[in-house]
Amino acid sequence: MTTKATEKKTKIHEVVKWPDPVLAKRGETVTVFDAKLKKLTDEMFESMYEAQGIGLAAPQIAISQRITVIDVSFKKNPEEKIVLINPEIIEREGKQVEEEGCLSLPEIREKVSRAEWVKVKAQDVTGEWFEIEGTELLARAMQHEIDHLDGVLFIDRLSRLKRDLVIRKIKKLIKNGEW
Ligand SMILES: [Zn+2]
Repeated sequence: MTTKATEKKTKIHEVVKWPDPVLAKRGETVTVFDAKLKKLTDEMFESMYEAQGIGLAAPQIAISQRITVIDVSFKKNPEEKIVLINPEIIEREGKQVEEEGCLSLPEIREKVSRAEWVKVKAQDVTGEWFEIEGTELLARAMQHEIDHLDGVLFIDRLSRLKRDLVIRKIKKLIKNGEW
């Protein structure tokens, strides 16, 4: 943050919150891999860091496309910066139940059951297909972000009762102007 003034200016997108309808839509497949797409992914990383997140999907900045960025190291390791375009989970194994949050659902944290390990097939910014595997937090982040591209939020993976409670809480926050 302190180096911001000296950095090249990157547009920061505002993260939309539930119940914005864009979050419930399936994102469109990306077919054009050009400089504009690269620029968008750079902006997504910056917007994600600004919002203190470790993952961001394009629908969360009101762009209904199948693009997501992840950095579970939060800027500590450039090698952990991942861009997934048109991603698909091709294999999954095991189970982990951990607390999850979402930039589109600020302050809400609930335990969500996810696969412990996943293998994902995706395209990079040049359109090249690749595969990536992850366990623990990376597996969780990939599943969470790919869900966003299908219009699914983590609260949709809770029990009906838990989900209703969370939604009631959010509606109260909205009513009080605190959302
Ligand atoms: Zn999210």
